[in-house]
Amino acid sequence: MNILIVGGAGYIGSHMVKLLSVAGHQVVVFDNLSKGYRDAVLEGEFIEGDLANLEQLERLFSSSRFDAVMHFASFIEVGESVRDPAKYYRNNFSNTQNLLDSMVAHDVGHFIFSSTAAIFGEPRYTPIDEVHAKSPINPYGRSKFMVEQMLEDYDKAHGLKSVCLRYFNAAGADVEGDLGERHNPETHLIPLVLQAASGRRDAIAIYGNDYDTADGTCVRDYIHVQDLCAAHLLALDSLRKTGNSNQFNLGNGLGFSVRQVIDCAREVTGREIKVVNEERRAGDPAVLVADAARAKTVLGWKPSLSSLEKIIETAWNWEQSFFSH
Ligand code: UDP
Repeated sequence: MNILIVGGAGYIGSHMVKLLSVAGHQVVVFDNLSKGYRDAVLEGEFIEGDLANLEQLERLFSSSRFDAVMHFASFIEVGESVRDPAKYYRNNFSNTQNLLDSMVAHDVGHFIFSSTAAIFGEPRYTPIDEVHAKSPINPYGRSKFMVEQMLEDYDKAHGLKSVCLRYFNAAGADVEGDLGERHNPETHLIPLVLQAASGRRDAIAIYGNDYDTADGTCVRDYIHVQDLCAAHLLALDSLRKTGNSNQFNLGNGLGFSVRQVIDCAREVTGREIKVVNEERRAGDPAVLVADAARAKTVLGWKPSLSSLEKIIETAWNWEQSFFSH
């Protein structure tokens, strides 16, 4: 297949590009490099371009015939989305609409969308399955949920078939050490903990130790980035076979607290990791854990790299190899 990867220079997109090429597909990456890195695109054709630019989109879709589009290009910082909602609605929603309109105009009918657990908001029960109420509590989550709703409408009106993959906490790095997480600024727990282990930062802040959880810190469902990418490939196969749009929650179904993550990182790295306790971060639910039964049954997805040790080990490998020079 010839697959367009929007945001293929970013963290998850770049792992996807590698997996698709290994699986024998052709890829074209379209990325504005606002967050991604040209050198993270290891395979395929790279086009620097922006979803806000309709002429570039028209050129892109006229130049190649795509069998499917995967869309990884969104902003992901909850706090920033609260301070600057326009940035999130413009990029995550309006620019996605530009992309979908180009797909409809050029008769490209298969779309895999990077959605998020943030569409659910404060969990009403846990683990969270696909039918859980969607009640996002910040502009980031709302911008993603609006795309999911738009996709339902575009399916009805235009027959555009899509799969929404709702990531819980994407983490880890390429097992062969070729790729990893390079967010700037970094806000995610595991890379920050490992920066504290390597000495690139003094300590890791724990945002809140008075949550209603076993050790008082927030519990999250960490899922290896390559397991997430494997789910995209299965989702695409299933979409092409069945022709049905669908949505899947992607996680391990296991929760680890912030303290458990730090303890595991101490074991894996053998380093001391200093901790400072800070106030709760606004908008953090106490527990977010996925029920991924639908992905397992319908797609045959089986996470294989997702023990916390493996996630941290691959991320540590990346931290040490990439950031040590
Ligand atoms: N967290 C923390 N210290 C940090 C970064 C994150 O205690 O420096 C906590 C955060 O409050 C949340 C968990 O770690 O409970 C995971 O946060 P992350 O930003 O990695 O992902 P999110 O769950 O927000 O998508």
